[in-house]
Amino acid sequence: MSADSQYDLIIVGAGPSGLSTALHLAKVAPELVGRTLILEKACHPRPKLCGGALVVDAEIILERLGLDVSEIPHVDARTAHFNYGDHGLAIRLLRGRTLRLIRRDEFDAWLASKARARGFAILEGVTVRDVTSTEAGVRVETDRGEYIARVVVGADGSNGVVRRCVFPKAPIYTARTIEVLAPPNDRDNHGANDAYFDFFPVPKSIAGYTWDFPTQVSGRPMRVWGIYDANLFESAKRTPLKELLSAEMARHGYRLEDCEIKGYPIRWFDPFNPFSVKGILLVGDAAGADSIFGEGISMALGYGRIAAQALRAAFKKDDFSFRDYRLRLTLSPLGQALTVRWLITYVLFSLQWGWIQFLIWRIFQPFVYLTSMIFVINWAWRSKK
Ligand SMILES: Cc1cc2nc3c(=O)[nH]c(=O)nc-3n(C[C@H](O)[C@H](O)[C@H](O)COP(=O)(O)OP(=O)(O)OC[C@H]3O[C@@H](n4cnc5c(N)ncnc54)[C@H](O)[C@@H]3O)c2cc1C
Repeated sequence: MSADSQYDLIIVGAGPSGLSTALHLAKVAPELVGRTLILEKACHPRPKLCGGALVVDAEIILERLGLDVSEIPHVDARTAHFNYGDHGLAIRLLRGRTLRLIRRDEFDAWLASKARARGFAILEGVTVRDVTSTEAGVRVETDRGEYIARVVVGADGSNGVVRRCVFPKAPIYTARTIEVLAPPNDRDNHGANDAYFDFFPVPKSIAGYTWDFPTQVSGRPMRVWGIYDANLFESAKRTPLKELLSAEMARHGYRLEDCEIKGYPIRWFDPFNPFSVKGILLVGDAAGADSIFGEGISMALGYGRIAAQALRAAFKKDDFSFRDYRLRLTLSPLGQALTVRWLITYVLFSLQWGWIQFLIWRIFQPFVYLTSMIFVINWAWRSKK
C-alpha cells in the first residue's frame, strides 16, 4: 500500500457532521489537519433532502467556529408555530429570527469550502464500500481503491456504510419523511415569514407532525412542506403519510400532486445505541439525530465538537479504543438534549388522543415553552467553547 493511501484519520462523509468534526479538529488538534482525508461520494454542491431549518444551537456552534452563516442565501423565520390543528404555541426568539432556513446544497458546499480553507483534503466522487477494523489500523475500501487509517469517523448519514459494517446487527430506529417544494400561494393563511409545525397527525398513529417553512431556491421565495413520522407504531394502523400531507397542503391552497415528492429516512438517537468500536467513531445521523422532530443539523455540528475532542485525546495517548466516547457523548449537553428528546418522543407520541394533544399544544403552553427552552434547545450554550 502506497504512503499516499495511509492517513492518521479518514472522515467518511462531507455533510455537516463530517465537516464539523474537521473544523473542530482544526481548532483543538491542528497538527492532525494534514494527516486527515475526507472521503465524499457526491460532489459539492450536492442535493440533500432537508427542510434546512437551523435552530439557535447551530448558530452558536458555527459562530464559535468563527463562521458567518449569513454569507450564504437564507430566509429568516420570525416565529415558529407549534400547533395542533392550526392553533398552538408560537415561539419568537430574540433578534427577529427563530429559525434560519438554508438550502443544504449551498450550506454543505459552504462548510466544505471552510474546511478546505483550513487545510483539509476532501476527495469527492469516492464511495466507501467497506470498513474493517484490523490490528494494523482501519481498512477503508472504496470504488477508487483502498486506504488505511489509524482512525475512521463515520459521518455518512442515516444510511451510512460505516455503521452497517461495524454494527451489522444493531437495532435501527429510523423515521420516515416526505418533503416537497412549492411556490407560495395567495390562499395560504400561513404567515409568509413564519415556520409551522402541526401535530394533527398524532391521533392517526403517526409519531410526528407536518411542517411548512419559508425558504428560497436560487433567490426565489418558496415553501418547503413535509411530514415526519418517528415510526413508533404498527404500520397497519397508520394513515399513509402522503394522504395526511396532501390534506394539510390542500387546506392551505397547495396540491401535493403538483410537486416532486421525495422521501428519505432519518436515523434517530437512542442512548443504548453503539457509537464506537476500536478505531472507529460515529457522528451525526450515523450516530443518531433528534427523535421528536428529526432535527439533525445542529446535532451533526455538535457531534463534530465531541468527536474532535475524543480524537485529540486518542492521538495524545496513542489509545484508539474510544472506550470513553459513549460517556463523552451522553454526558455532554448535546447527549443530554438528545436523551431528553428521546424520552419525550415516547411520551408525546404515545398520547394519541386528540384532546391530550390539544391540551399539550394549546393549554399547557407555558409548561411546553419552558421545557423546550431548557431541555430541547439551547444545549449549545452549555457546551464549553
Ligand atoms: C426530509 C428531511 C427534512 C429534514 N429537515 C431538517 C431541518 O429542517 N433541520 C434540521 O436540523 N435537520 C433536518 N433534517 C435532518 C438533517 O438533514 C440530518 O440530520 C443531517 O443532514 C445530518 O448530517 P450528517 O452530516 O450526519 O449526514 P448527511 O447530511 O446525510 O451527510 C452524509 C454525507 O456522507 C456522504 N456519504 C454517504 N455514504 C457515503 C459513502 N458510502 N462514501 C462516501 N460518502 C458517503 C453523503 O453523500 C453525504 O454528503 C431533515 C432530514 C430529512 C430527511
